[in-house]
Amino acid sequence: MTPVKKNVPQVITEIKACLECGDPIQGRADKKFCCDQCRVTYNNRLNSDDTNHVRNVNYTLRKNRRILMALNATGKTKVSREKLIRKGFDFGYFTNTYKTKDGAIYYYCYEQGYLPIEKEYYLLVVKQDFYS
Ligand SMILES: [Zn+2]
Repeated sequence: MTPVKKNVPQVITEIKACLECGDPIQGRADKKFCCDQCRVTYNNRLNSDDTNHVRNVNYTLRKNRRILMALNATGKTKVSREKLIRKGFDFGYFTNTYKTKDGAIYYYCYEQGYLPIEKEYYLLVVKQDFYS
């Protein structure tokens, strides 16, 4: 018995919209833009200073967090400013601060924090309630 050859349905090409202007795209299925101009505009915006700035800030914050984490295995560690700087820590970047009643200010990079305790020294802390 010869198997009946079924009609293979035509692959319906999805009509996609240009990522930049929203116009329908004609042509290859993997095309993302209607024209070169839209592709260039889109990619320029993606690599704009704004985007790069956000990316750099995020990178610095994550790096700061990693440094604090690595130096603070016990959850409470005293380290020198010099050591933090040597690891590449950037004191200009933190996600938030916490001021105690007596005026001490904790600086946080996400859940990892530090408190200036004396000249050139910091107490590293971990904010526990981020995890609970
Ligand atoms: Zn377009």
